[in-house]
Amino acid sequence: MSTRAEEFDLVVVGGGIQGAGVLQAAAAAGWRAALIEERALASGTSCRSSKLIHGGLRYLESRQFGLVRESLAERRTLLSIAPDLVRLVPFHIPIYRSTRRRPWQIRVGLSLYALLGDLEPAARFEELPRRAWEGLDGLQTAGLQAVFRYQDGQTDDAGLVRAVARSGEQLGGRIACPARFVRARRVDSGFEIELAAEGKSLAWRASALVNAAGPWINLVRERIDPPPPGLEIDLVGGTHLEIESRLERGIYYTEAPRDGRAVFCMPWKEHLLVGTTETNYRGDPRVVRPLAEEVGYLQETLAAYFPQATGKLLDSWAGLRVLPHGEGAAFHRRRETTLCCDDEARPRAIAIYGGKLTGYRATAAKVVALLARTLPNVQRKADTATLPISDAPLSTVSVAP
Ligand SMILES: Cc1cc2nc3c(=O)[nH]c(=O)nc-3n(C[C@H](O)[C@H](O)[C@H](O)COP(=O)(O)OP(=O)(O)OC[C@H]3O[C@@H](n4cnc5c(N)ncnc54)[C@H](O)[C@@H]3O)c2cc1C
Repeated sequence: MSTRAEEFDLVVVGGGIQGAGVLQAAAAAGWRAALIEERALASGTSCRSSKLIHGGLRYLESRQFGLVRESLAERRTLLSIAPDLVRLVPFHIPIYRSTRRRPWQIRVGLSLYALLGDLEPAARFEELPRRAWEGLDGLQTAGLQAVFRYQDGQTDDAGLVRAVARSGEQLGGRIACPARFVRARRVDSGFEIELAAEGKSLAWRASALVNAAGPWINLVRERIDPPPPGLEIDLVGGTHLEIESRLERGIYYTEAPRDGRAVFCMPWKEHLLVGTTETNYRGDPRVVRPLAEEVGYLQETLAAYFPQATGKLLDSWAGLRVLPHGEGAAFHRRRETTLCCDDEARPRAIAIYGGKLTGYRATAAKVVALLARTLPNVQRKADTATLPISDAPLSTVSVAP
């Protein structure tokens, strides 16, 4: 390790949406903040999501009302601060004779969704008249009983991460990328951190350390001496397919014929995106790939709803959800973010387990509120709820001065 250690109030490991969110929020709070990312910003899960900024309609079935309310509030904030990156898109829910959920259930669900979204105009929904069905991108109409339409947000997930990171950088935050977090050691004043960049070993010191390494979270945790508290987790893979076909009318929220899981068929740039799956994963997060079984499942779902969308399979990829370890289908497990601290009263190590792209700003605000118990009282520079962000190129992504 080199002898001269750079000093920060806070160092974040991981340049996905959670790490970028914490960098921005910490820099906005006025602290000296830095982020370490091993590959490229948004090179992990945060470029493999369904790219939705949404309340999560389906989470109402598992009564995760707090998560839905918070996500709808975040959707409202992001629509206002990131209009180039987040936009409202019509979502359609087709109900067939064979669909497990009945029209009355969807009506109740959408009413509750609207209520949790404070009944704002974006929360309104409607049932489309029969005559409108033919105009829905070739949607299968045999056996169709009803189509509901509501609105939710779509984004460019990697673009959002870059925009948030750039905002953090503009507020004075430092980004080391590509740079690998090697290890950290707890000392009286915080942490001594070793990172590797451009074949060199660098030494940093920080009063606090935030582990935002997504699927790598427990690998990073093991590299902290002594390891701070953590959670046992399951990694659950989710595949998307990009198909050479188009959807002009918005997103379709379908039920997979095989098992009734929610699958989205979405317009994405010039093509069609269908996803996702849930497959338990063990192994190196870097090499997660779609399984042939998952590709078949998604193709079968798409064909059931859009028999004419038979375009070429252009691309496919998989990302990993971090869920608390548990029994039973991942689909029904809770999706809230869990923050693990070494000391509730004066935290210095915080790990961010799980969560959604949508809620990154709220999560970062909670991390900052916890760290305010430990870090110096400084002059706030900005409020992330009102600070505009946009996906312009990063100015100085750098490893070291
Ligand atoms: C299939 C799927 C669909 C999803 N769809 C949605 C959706 O539509 N809407 C939504 O809101 N949420 C969605 N999510 C959830 C959302 O995508 C994730 O919660 C979020 O992207 C996780 O971000 P993260 O920053 O925690 O992790 P990541 O994006 O994985 O970032 C972790 C980073 O840590 C870095 N790292 C690891 N080890 C080190 C090290 N030693 N040193 C330095 N850096 C390191 C990695 O390179 C990586 O870039 C989806 C998730 C999945 C899997």
